Amino acid sequence: MSQKKISEEKVFFEKQIYDLKQLLEISKSLNSTMDFSTLIESFLYICMGQFQTIGAALFTKADFDASSFQMGQNFYGFDVKEGVEYSFPEDHPFINFLAKNPECLTIEQLNNSGLKKDEALKALLSLEPTLIVPLKVKGHINGILVLGQQINQKPYSDYDKEHMTAIASLAAIAINNAMLLEMSTTDMMTHLKLKHFFYTVLAEKLEMCENKGLSLSVIMLDIDFFKRFNDTYGHACGDLVLQKVSSVIQQNTRAQDLAARYGGEEFVVLLCETDSDIAEKIAERIRYSIENMDIVYSEQHLTVTISAGVAQYDPQTDSSPKMLVDRADKALYISKETGRNRVTVAGPGGL
Ligand code: GH3
Ligand code: MG
Ligand code: MG
Repeated sequence: MSQKKISEEKVFFEKQIYDLKQLLEISKSLNSTMDFSTLIESFLYICMGQFQTIGAALFTKADFDASSFQMGQNFYGFDVKEGVEYSFPEDHPFINFLAKNPECLTIEQLNNSGLKKDEALKALLSLEPTLIVPLKVKGHINGILVLGQQINQKPYSDYDKEHMTAIASLAAIAINNAMLLEMSTTDMMTHLKLKHFFYTVLAEKLEMCENKGLSLSVIMLDIDFFKRFNDTYGHACGDLVLQKVSSVIQQNTRAQDLAARYGGEEFVVLLCETDSDIAEKIAERIRYSIENMDIVYSEQHLTVTISAGVAQYDPQTDSSPKMLVDRADKALYISKETGRNRVTVAGPGGL
């Protein structure tokens, strides 16, 4: 073999080793977070870095029971137009096409695919993508990566495409894991978090707030006379009330807080960096919004109220996360005893 050939091969093998090391790093990075938006952000940065593109976007389902793949805010470096919907229903021919053709797709291949250029495909093409890569897990598409213009304008080689496919399959698994975690910690009916997940987060946040000397409060909420909705109008009515109340609770919860369904018609909200005065105001806002909400079921206007109990973490009293929740629960019990549709705050060291 000539010296030139040997040195070319050496460069190629060195590149392969480098890319494999990169794949390991990418795998570590993608598996280090279960948070959906952090995961997508880091995936898009990785793709732009690896392929030197000025843009990258990911179409994916906004949550586990969404029925369309949307780009939403998951993009960098693309000129998006107001009023254009960058979205594909899950049964769109393009999605079926990608499921059957698992490799990277160039725009030329897409143009020759015979797919009808409807609004959704036209919106995608208006981004002027250079490569489209399906993210697949167990034969199902769970995302579509779109790469923008390359800085060096070089066409993608087969090796590039193979490397991209490997990265996409790592991302597909990481996204699937994040979705599975989301599903297993979320109550399907109300879309709030489940009790066990709430306690996991509460334990973490308590430690963090204690270390930093920050306050933390919880609100326990229980729907008043909820049984009556079931008994008068049936279970479906009770379910609707649960969903409406949950959405009010969710709307009043900031990104750093956590709202969970604690049990049947009981809810709990974790408020970080919040003392009991502020927590009381938030509980009162939730109570007021629910009392004034118009819920219509079978042409009947329902009046729903909730009772609440608030407790601020007190390191002297609360020897466990459960103890703090119990104090909020006791305060809630007082709200029930003293007439319902009200908020009670637990005093430090018990009531
Ligand atoms: P109080 O004001 O004292 O809280 O009275 P209540 O009627 O709200 O409380 P109670 O504990 O007597 O009744 C709660 C009811 O919630 C009993 C249970 O059948 C119902 N429930 C629990 N989970 C669900 C659910 O997922 N859907 C529906 N429709 N009902 C549920
Ligand atoms: Mg109740
Ligand atoms: Mg109850």
